[in-house]
Amino acid sequence: MSDTEALTQSDSEPIYGKSNPFPAKLLKKFNLNGEGSAKETFHAEISLEGSGLSYEAGDALAVVPENAPDLIEDFLEATVLEGSQSVMIDEISMTLREALRDKFDLRVVTKVVLTKYAKLCGNDDLLDKCGDREWVNEYSWGRDWVDVVKEFPAESLAAEDYFSFLRPLAGRLYSIASSLVAHPDEVHLTVGAVRYEAFGRQKKGVCSTFITDMWAEGDTAGVYFHHNKKFKLPEDGSVPIIMVGPGTGIAPFRAFVEERVASGASGKNWLFFGDQHEATDYLYQSEWDSCLQQGHLYRVDLAFSRDQANKIYVQDRMRENAAELWSWIADGAYFYVCGDASRMAKDVHQSLIDIAAEQGGMEESEATAYIKQMQKEKRYGRDVY
Ligand SMILES: Cc1cc2nc3c(=O)[nH]c(=O)nc-3n(C[C@H](O)[C@H](O)[C@H](O)COP(=O)(O)OP(=O)(O)OC[C@H]3O[C@@H](n4cnc5c(N)ncnc54)[C@H](O)[C@@H]3O)c2cc1C
Repeated sequence: MSDTEALTQSDSEPIYGKSNPFPAKLLKKFNLNGEGSAKETFHAEISLEGSGLSYEAGDALAVVPENAPDLIEDFLEATVLEGSQSVMIDEISMTLREALRDKFDLRVVTKVVLTKYAKLCGNDDLLDKCGDREWVNEYSWGRDWVDVVKEFPAESLAAEDYFSFLRPLAGRLYSIASSLVAHPDEVHLTVGAVRYEAFGRQKKGVCSTFITDMWAEGDTAGVYFHHNKKFKLPEDGSVPIIMVGPGTGIAPFRAFVEERVASGASGKNWLFFGDQHEATDYLYQSEWDSCLQQGHLYRVDLAFSRDQANKIYVQDRMRENAAELWSWIADGAYFYVCGDASRMAKDVHQSLIDIAAEQGGMEESEATAYIKQMQKEKRYGRDVY
């Protein structure tokens, strides 16, 4: 059984997984950011009722999106194809418009797919460019298949030609923000809407904005679990934990704290959270406030980067609290980081090494080996993307 296939509780029920996503009903969703925020982060509550599926805190859920109607219309216009024509997909007849909604990724441009397109069009200039990975990486950032077809028009390609190279529309992963013990038959997510303007059009991330804009309460969408064995709470509930989760990185830590509260774990929980502005971007603030009051959180350290002239990030808060953080780690605490892989997680990792070196009186190489060993022992979990 793969990580993304999960068995149901009873052998007589169907098995839901990546190849057979469970049609899950959206119960509730709302924007966690306040008015005036530059961010749009949704809390989504999804029902697992009737699926027999289960998950653990630290796992992720894949949501299978639909492409947005405006993207489909732009693609039809760029390709000069008729959306109402009948096409066959996996021996099922549907309209081209339906196929583009459910079956193909019109957003992500990769080297492999672009190369196939160049060959199909007989465009030697584009094929040449595709040989240069750096060019492809730069070209594909912010572009979708509407941009490609407009910039490198294909002469008389049929719908089936596009089906031969476009990637299937796959689910995107989201760190689970709930504990199944605290919310039986439910799974919660924290989803940041991806929106930007590029190459003359407003762009939307296919899955994040499917969840925020298109998935209506009461409607179903395909979901499946991705189990993450390397991002788990300590089995011993008395072990303290340190969690660093700015932005949507907060998601699994809501699950961790809920799980520790539900199981009566006595270990202390220390949270680092950050975003742009405290007034609008402190995600789940009321829940953290009540956790602090009830002693479910030992402390929360906050870093709002744009509330003062100089930018302050979670890794700065870690460094400010180096002595206490190190004493926790030296006493056996587990350390977790979740969120942006490109910068934040790297900076947090380096801060951890620096703290081990300074506070533990180690050489940089020893500190690096110490942190690596923590990872090996699953005392340092990373859920970064
Ligand atoms: C294990 C894991 C856990 C995750 N957990 C979460 C989570 O809890 N919450 C969450 O919100 N996300 C999470 N993600 C990220 C999530 O899976 C998606 O990648 C994210 O929602 C974007 O997907 P999308 O379909 O909306 O965007 P896509 O349609 O896939 O678009 C993304 C593409 O848009 C382009 N792009 C994006 N921003 C810009 C920009 N500013 N300028 C130009 N181009 C741009 C890039 O080409 C990029 O490749 C997680 C990812 C992983 C792997």
